[in-house]
Amino acid sequence: MTFKTRFAPSPTGPLHLGHAYSAILAYEQAKAQGGQFLLRIEDIDQSRSRPHWEAQIYEDLEWLGLTWETPVMRQSDRTSAYRAALDKLQDLGLLYPCTCRRADIEAAASAPQEGVSQFGPDGRIYPGTCRHKKVNDAASDAVLRLNLEKALDLLENLTFSEVGPLHEGTHKINKSNMLRDVGDVILLRRGMNSSYHLSVVVDDADQGITQVTRGADLWEATQIHVVLQRLLGFSVPAYHHHDLIRDDAGKRLAKRDDAKSIATFREQGASRSDVYEMIGRKPLVP
Ligand code: GLU
Ligand code: ZN
Repeated sequence: MTFKTRFAPSPTGPLHLGHAYSAILAYEQAKAQGGQFLLRIEDIDQSRSRPHWEAQIYEDLEWLGLTWETPVMRQSDRTSAYRAALDKLQDLGLLYPCTCRRADIEAAASAPQEGVSQFGPDGRIYPGTCRHKKVNDAASDAVLRLNLEKALDLLENLTFSEVGPLHEGTHKINKSNMLRDVGDVILLRRGMNSSYHLSVVVDDADQGITQVTRGADLWEATQIHVVLQRLLGFSVPAYHHHDLIRDDAGKRLAKRDDAKSIATFREQGASRSDVYEMIGRKPLVP
């Protein structure tokens, strides 16, 4: 099986050093394994994605000396693939429509219990208010959620392997912890053709990704992805979650951190090797 990994940026802002690090790491691993480096434009959120940011992604990656397989997958072209995955989950009886607004969810969430988080990898853990609703009766502004308890009942031996140094090893997903810490995630968002979790899983499968390389900020989301892969009959790739690049104050670099964008360094006269060096000597905190 050919080793395939990918870099999957959203075209909602400029790439910064953290993106460069992620892309370079994935690229180097693909080369070391004699495999392929793929690129995917994660533009399901059309309200925030912009063509000029997409163009700049290609420009920055080329400037960094990376090459990738073509054609590039773009999530805005993938509506029918996401629809098919949603239909499959619906046939399994695992989806329900939800019209709760943030305030409804806050009001319905039980009083905070000590030691039990109200927030999971997908934001506030959903209290299940709409779980009894049927997809066919969905209001037009409803989102679709996964009934996680029902989903987990269908699955056994939920494991995945992590090859990155931060969490290296085989990980077994604990169902009751997942119910408590994750809950019923959204798979179809308002105004979108999918959700982050659904699209990343469907796209990784369709691109034949054998190793997902990405930042440690997505470590907690991985269990959701493994559940979806198993429900949809996809193979579970290996994962490599890398440490995140921080600024001098220890703050994680965000896309809005324009001062640290690769384009800005370039405009200020930095060379390609300067940027590589910046990544090499930044303190890397998990
Ligand atoms: N699109 C995501 C981001 O920009 C990355 C998704 C992934 O690698 O799974 O952070
Ligand atoms: Zn609801």
